[in-house]
Amino acid sequence: MSEPRSISLLGATGSIGDSTLDLIRNDRANWTVRALSANCSAEKLAKLAIEFEAEIAVVGDEACLPELKQHLAGTGVEAAGGREALCDAAARPVDITVAAIVGCAGLAPTMRAIEQGNTVALANKEALVSAGEVMTRLVAQHGTALLPVDSEHNAIFQCLAGNNIDDVRWITLTASGGPFRTKTLEELDAATPSQAVAHPNWDMGAKISVDSATMMNKGLEFIEAFHLFPVGLDRLRIIVHPQSVIHSMVEYRDGSTLAQLGPSDMRVPIASTLAYPARMDTNCKPLDLAKIGELSFFAPDEERFPATKLAREAAHAGGGTPAVLNAANEVAVAAFLAGQIRFTQISALSARTLDNYAPPAPQTLDDVLAVDAEARARAGEMLEIA
Ligand code: NAD
Ligand code: MG
Repeated sequence: MSEPRSISLLGATGSIGDSTLDLIRNDRANWTVRALSANCSAEKLAKLAIEFEAEIAVVGDEACLPELKQHLAGTGVEAAGGREALCDAAARPVDITVAAIVGCAGLAPTMRAIEQGNTVALANKEALVSAGEVMTRLVAQHGTALLPVDSEHNAIFQCLAGNNIDDVRWITLTASGGPFRTKTLEELDAATPSQAVAHPNWDMGAKISVDSATMMNKGLEFIEAFHLFPVGLDRLRIIVHPQSVIHSMVEYRDGSTLAQLGPSDMRVPIASTLAYPARMDTNCKPLDLAKIGELSFFAPDEERFPATKLAREAAHAGGGTPAVLNAANEVAVAAFLAGQIRFTQISALSARTLDNYAPPAPQTLDDVLAVDAEARARAGEMLEIA
């Protein structure tokens, strides 16, 4: 038996957190859990920290610390709260960190995990989209292994293994098309938050579910792919594949296309990062292709779903523009979920924020955070007059 591996999980109480801890639970003897974090959810976080005998539990929102402390009193699990404490916990050395906080809020702790130079399994796409080269430079500087958890990027990563990146002709990201794939613009305009979060294939957190409905998720993933796989923007494309069986594809210059297939269950890509470069068991339902019957593919419709176009343009603009897009989208999604704006206004608000703010390219984490904050402020102002 080999030594247990140590793991920290940022965003332990969310959907990716649940899937990750389910895998650890079924492979318990092989893991030591160091830090678990949440924004608040003190009771759930404490329960998990006790179950997994974590060294420390951290809430990002300091106001939730007293409740966390109360739940952890006498258990031997350390409790901490606030942004700095979250970053400090992320900086504790571990074999692997799973970065699964939602939104740019995960950026600073993810950067701290990258700095300690082991493996970071990245689910938190908004962090990479916002920071771009600021993050990839840090990864290179510290020799960190950055393994993609996002199912598409995990698929691409697997399809690239053993090949030369210079031989890639196309990387094709598949998109389910979300719950509104066949809706008209009029229907989209009337779409409610509960309809938007009801994804046909995947069970995910609210923010990414809305992003899937607007297709901004695929837009963010386009930018994420650009940073993870150095083939250039012109070799990246998106195809709608409603069954979510093929998680993405790589076509090589000889005409061979490699694809990764699997059930719509995030435990599969997460497991591939936890065990990398080996494999581990999961108790996911095996893929039953005969039952699925047919796979279909469609070109994206950017008239009804302009988000992928916005993201492509932001990726071409580079510098701080993707961070502006991400921040505006976070503000817009939160406003939509709170009933403040209509579904179609989400992409419209992002477009207006991009028109309104063209920051210089950020060079440091603080620069990225400053662009993020300014873009949020401007998007917030535009919300008031929307
Ligand atoms: P979620 O909303 O279910 O969970 C988010 C986690 O982050 C929770 O633990 C929450 O407490 C924590 N959190 C939220 N705001 C925070 C803040 N301000 N500070 C500190 N912690 C905070 O989200 P999710 O669906 O698990 O997604 C997490 C990330 O993984 C996102 O970036 C998402 O895009 C990505 N992702 C998710 C899926 C999926 O199937 N859920 C698939 C691919 C990628
Ligand atoms: Mg994805």
